[in-house]
Amino acid sequence: MTMLPPPTRKKLGLVIDLDICVGCHACAVACKEWNDGGEFGPLPDENPYGAEPLGVWFNRVHTYEIEPKEENKPAMTVHFPRSCLHCETPDCVTVCPTGASYKRAEDGIVLVDEDKCIGCKLCSWACPYGAREYSEVRGVMQKCTLCVDRIYNESFDEVDRQPACVMACPTRARHFGDLGDADSTVSNLVAERGGYDLMPEIGYQPVNKYLPPRQRRDGCGSAPTKTAQDEKVDFSTSPLLRWMDKVLSR
Ligand code: SF4
Ligand code: SF4
Repeated sequence: MTMLPPPTRKKLGLVIDLDICVGCHACAVACKEWNDGGEFGPLPDENPYGAEPLGVWFNRVHTYEIEPKEENKPAMTVHFPRSCLHCETPDCVTVCPTGASYKRAEDGIVLVDEDKCIGCKLCSWACPYGAREYSEVRGVMQKCTLCVDRIYNESFDEVDRQPACVMACPTRARHFGDLGDADSTVSNLVAERGGYDLMPEIGYQPVNKYLPPRQRRDGCGSAPTKTAQDEKVDFSTSPLLRWMDKVLSR
């Protein structure tokens, strides 16, 4: 059993805009290159992903279609990047028998101390978001670190002190910042766009937020015609959440 710190004032995390993610996987590849490039090497030319991709992928992008509620309307394609949400009260930490999984009191980042990890995989069973990745190469659990080795790295220019996935995103669908600060850019984005928690009913209180896709004028990708708030997809009845539940509970 590993204790969580008291609720952290600083809550570093990501805000991911499902409205403008184009599913290019640049974030996933940049993440792998930064966090695992030395261990696993670059992607092979042939069958780079395969049915059972090897190595760790801390960030994965799923693509799916939402069926229209009304007849004669086209389906909407949504790309859904998925990684650790750096939850406030995650059981992935408390189930850890060695203290290897922990949440930092200073900024809320959830990490794994590989020197303490015995590879029992209890944390991956406890994570409802499928965000933990067991490394066969290292024999330990790994996960998104929010690129903790970049964001505080004073040898980088300040503009580069961001997670690799955020730096790589060509559409700026990914935003990094302090969600504990109500005045931060990311908090304002969440407020303006109705950002939401993934599966809030579980009670893990994810720090990362998703901005919902907006309804399109022609249903297939044209510019929105009303304000962002007006144009939000109704998530209370949307197949999106049902789909997410299905994917995440695999
Ligand atoms: Fe833990 Fe999963 Fe939450 Fe990340 S997303 S903190 S691994 S429960
Ligand atoms: Fe989406 Fe940006 Fe990731 Fe591409 S890099 S899949 S646009 S979040």
